[in-house]
Amino acid sequence: HWARICARLQLEVGEVEYRTWLRQMTLGAVDQDEITLYLPTRFLRDWVRSQYGDRLGALWNAEVAEIRRVELALAPDHSANARPEPPEDGMTASEPRPAMAASLPGPSSAFTPVVEKNSDLAAPLDPRFSFDGFVVGKPNEFAYACARRVAERPSSPGFNPLFLYGGVGLGKTHLMHAVGLELTRPDRSGGAVSVAYMSAEKFMYRFIAAIRSQQTMEFKEQLRSVDVLMIDDLQFLIGKDNTQEEFFHTFNALVDAGKQIVVSADKSPSDLSGLEDRLRTRLGCGMVADIHATTFELRISILEAKAQASGVAVPPKVLEFLAHKITTNVRELEGALNRLIAHANLFGRPVTLEATQEVLHDILKAHDRRVTIEEIQRKVSEHWNIRLTDMSSARRARAVARPRQVAMYLSKQLTSRSLPEIGRKFGNRDHTTVMHAVSRVQELMTTDSAFAEDVELLRRMLES
Ligand code: ADP
Ligand code: MG
Repeated sequence: HWARICARLQLEVGEVEYRTWLRQMTLGAVDQDEITLYLPTRFLRDWVRSQYGDRLGALWNAEVAEIRRVELALAPDHSANARPEPPEDGMTASEPRPAMAASLPGPSSAFTPVVEKNSDLAAPLDPRFSFDGFVVGKPNEFAYACARRVAERPSSPGFNPLFLYGGVGLGKTHLMHAVGLELTRPDRSGGAVSVAYMSAEKFMYRFIAAIRSQQTMEFKEQLRSVDVLMIDDLQFLIGKDNTQEEFFHTFNALVDAGKQIVVSADKSPSDLSGLEDRLRTRLGCGMVADIHATTFELRISILEAKAQASGVAVPPKVLEFLAHKITTNVRELEGALNRLIAHANLFGRPVTLEATQEVLHDILKAHDRRVTIEEIQRKVSEHWNIRLTDMSSARRARAVARPRQVAMYLSKQLTSRSLPEIGRKFGNRDHTTVMHAVSRVQELMTTDSAFAEDVELLRRMLES
């Protein structure tokens, strides 16, 4: 059980976090419904209790139903001659909890304090993530405009904090870097300002490292000396109460001093349950900008921009194919295109649809949503309020013929069925009828934007 729980935890929290906090935990006694886990230091015990206590309880209970309580205790053999082995990489936790930092002795010789390789306060900004490199479309134009605004005039009322949120791979980090790059440009009118960008995870490790090396004052001062503080992926702080607390204080101090804060997360402030209420409230009181899921048009624009920048000719058919297949995440879309381009460069062969399907075989398979034609027919008829049976009926009235064509079109786009196979499912229609439907829908989508939106919406519903 124990090994399984450890493995599970490691997966859940990630390698680094596991090694830092949980690896030194050992199994103690089981007493009816209670199990004791040992940790070598008081600090570790308190930390694990506050950050992972509930999860440990749940994992144990799932593994052994009788166990209802997990007690975290100081290891009984916690003494100078029975020290746990220090981990190879020097990442270990041995230090006091925040509130007591000042009154406790320095790092014990048994442990190596965390030494960050990069001693700068913030992570470097990626020059590729500029505003110029960001493709703007309906789903992200508002977030883009807000980011632009903050980059032009940081700390304006109404835009502080700037809270960007949206799903994975939709450009939050990109926009934050773009703001930072703009503000730190040496030729910026009004002069460059100091920017600290870091992930919330990094923020936590910095904070812990500062506690361990008894440099919390320095850490706070450093943070509070910047003009703009950007924290990426704030949802990481959920459940990390001590770090949240510290962030909250830093946040308040900075805003009170007229500094700009930019934060990103995967949800809106009000949906970030697990963050302290007062922090959520403050996060939501500046500008909150949502980056929506990409549309087909935006995906095409992004692909066009990236293909052009690469200098490799990628036919529009291939771009369309990719934009249809990879819909949720710009990072994956980009990764797929990069692979195609690398392949083309390596073998000096032109990019074709066949080559794409071959080169991206594994990626495409993962994106094959296995939507069935029946599902498509059901959703489409619900959407336009027609009878399901009309998908295969002979009726030719526009009110049913048009939805039927859309369903055929979506079947072609979303499944790997051939035209004759699709035709058969639509009342034994001929494959040329399906072909005609596909081109008719494509044509209509370019001329009728309301119709195009309907079709896109259906696609998204079917794909999710
Ligand atoms: P998030 O932080 O929201 O998970 P990222 O900002 O890391 O997403 O974006 C993932 C990748 O997709 C990055 O390489 C980024 O440059 C790219 N990307 C996302 N949105 C756009 C866009 N609108 N234009 C150009 N590239 C984009
Ligand atoms: Mg990100």
